[in-house]
Amino acid sequence: MTTLYNFGAGPGMLPPQILQQASMALVDWQGSGLSILELNHRSDAFRQLLADAEQNLRELLTIPKHYHILFLAGGASAQFAMVPLNLLGQQLEADYIQTGYWSKQAIREARRYAKINIAGESRPHEPMTVVPTPQEWILSPNAAYVHYTANETVDGLEFHQAPLFEQIPVVTDMTSNFLSAAVDIERFGLIYAGAQKNIGPAGMTVVIVRDDLLTRAHPLTPTLYRYQSQVEQHSCINTPPIFNCYVAGLMFAWVKAQGGINAMAQKNESNAKKIYAVIDASQGFYRNTLHPSCRSRSNIVFHLPTAHLEQEFLIQVKAAGLVNLAGHRSHGGIRASLYNAMPTTGVDVLVQFLRQFLQQKG
Ligand SMILES: *Cc1c(COP(=O)(O)O)cnc(C)c1O
Repeated sequence: MTTLYNFGAGPGMLPPQILQQASMALVDWQGSGLSILELNHRSDAFRQLLADAEQNLRELLTIPKHYHILFLAGGASAQFAMVPLNLLGQQLEADYIQTGYWSKQAIREARRYAKINIAGESRPHEPMTVVPTPQEWILSPNAAYVHYTANETVDGLEFHQAPLFEQIPVVTDMTSNFLSAAVDIERFGLIYAGAQKNIGPAGMTVVIVRDDLLTRAHPLTPTLYRYQSQVEQHSCINTPPIFNCYVAGLMFAWVKAQGGINAMAQKNESNAKKIYAVIDASQGFYRNTLHPSCRSRSNIVFHLPTAHLEQEFLIQVKAAGLVNLAGHRSHGGIRASLYNAMPTTGVDVLVQFLRQFLQQKG
């Protein structure tokens, strides 16, 4: 097999050794004679597996005791409803920051439950787009919480600084930059991250929720979707996504073994820089119109001068073993996603390709 580098935005690349370990566990998990898929979720072995995963995640992100960690079935999009259902309490309003594709999805769903105030919006700031800094957010006194998308996977925008507000719980969708850099957990009321970008197989979401926010759920919230019920049952009210939990645990251990969050952050930062440097030096051949202060380190989006050149780029880059570089169907163009599993060699091959293509066609 030739080495392929998967630059897809999600499901994202996973480290080859984890794929190997997981594939062996499908046949025989830890010499038990049973597949991981057959592991009983009420067994001590599974309880231990989940406790280890949680402990590793707690260490990686220095998550304090008054925050609960949940491993929930359902994608990140399920949180678009679970957040308002659980956090509105008696309030009828919530603040949302609108910066792109995924925040708009979250807003659309939240509007089913509450009056949504757009407390800040990204601005096509000629010639570059910027996100509204937390200092610029206009929070409303009646909002139950403020929600923002820490990394806009489709648009390639990222908040590089976590907001610091005492008066209102901050909720964030970290699906595409979870575990990519350190975060100050105590600035947040709730963090959620769908697994398929940086944690493992699709269909599971990690939720980190502060203890005092558990008692506000709307009475009609289904039991499975109540954070408090899930906390009480350690994410095991019903059969949890066992395989997803298993792979997430492997990923947390892998990140630790790589040197932890800071090692990941350094690698991701320097790899993203290399690609942006080629874009910026290409004199408009590769075009990214986002301000450097909010360019994503996880998803690098750019356009070429014509759609025809973009098609040619995608064909040639694939032939070079670099796959899934097409932009999101709503945006077109090119998107290179650099999740934790992307090795520096993959990025170096892409950088070399970008230079060659520019030389040929620029
Ligand atoms: C991928 C993604 C989602 C959607 O995840 P699903 O698991 O498909 O629901 C939500 N938010 C962000 C930021 C994403 O990148």
